[in-house]
Amino acid sequence: MLNLLKHPLITHKLALMRKKETRIKDFRELLQEISGLMVYEITRDLPIKKVTVETPLGKCDTEELDTKIVLVPILRAGLGMVDGISKLLPGARIGHIGIYRDHKTLEPMTYFSKLPDNLNDSVVMILDPMLATGGSSTKAIQLLKDRGAGIIKLVCIIGAPEGISRIEKDHPDVQIYLAGMDKKLNDIGYIVPGLGDAGDRLFGTT
Ligand code: URA
Repeated sequence: MLNLLKHPLITHKLALMRKKETRIKDFRELLQEISGLMVYEITRDLPIKKVTVETPLGKCDTEELDTKIVLVPILRAGLGMVDGISKLLPGARIGHIGIYRDHKTLEPMTYFSKLPDNLNDSVVMILDPMLATGGSSTKAIQLLKDRGAGIIKLVCIIGAPEGISRIEKDHPDVQIYLAGMDKKLNDIGYIVPGLGDAGDRLFGTT
């Protein structure tokens, strides 16, 4: 299911990120800030449990989160979302998945995967700023399911209709979170108008 987080502050910061004049330092900061702002909605349905705590004035019946959380950035651009989210979820464990697209077959290929154990008792959040064709996201979701993950959330910044449809078809159980949704992909799979190559803009490569 798609969750498009339409909020003036998120949209404002995303507009700044999209601008071609935005340099590396601001781009990095904006990506972390938007990711952090998205946490409020991404965590809306997390399980909670009843607890009693002692305040300076007495007992208080209240609630605490009742799940572990695993963040899984997709290399490289997903790394730019980790700090913004983990600041608000400081106990989260972090796995990494590296996926590239084979030039001949155009199929996404996993070249790196290092994940925490026992994914089945956690909410797993995949982080990847650009949901373009959906090829690498669907591959990452399948890898995580094969490793036992149950509840998976796909957290992206900008999505294209093609990528959203692909995830909804391949993994209808996965919640998708976006800060913006664009019109289409160009003929080399970039989101238009998008923001360009998120990895290059984040790391200063070309
Ligand atoms: N990856 C990017 O970095 N940008 C796009 O537009 C699509 C995929």
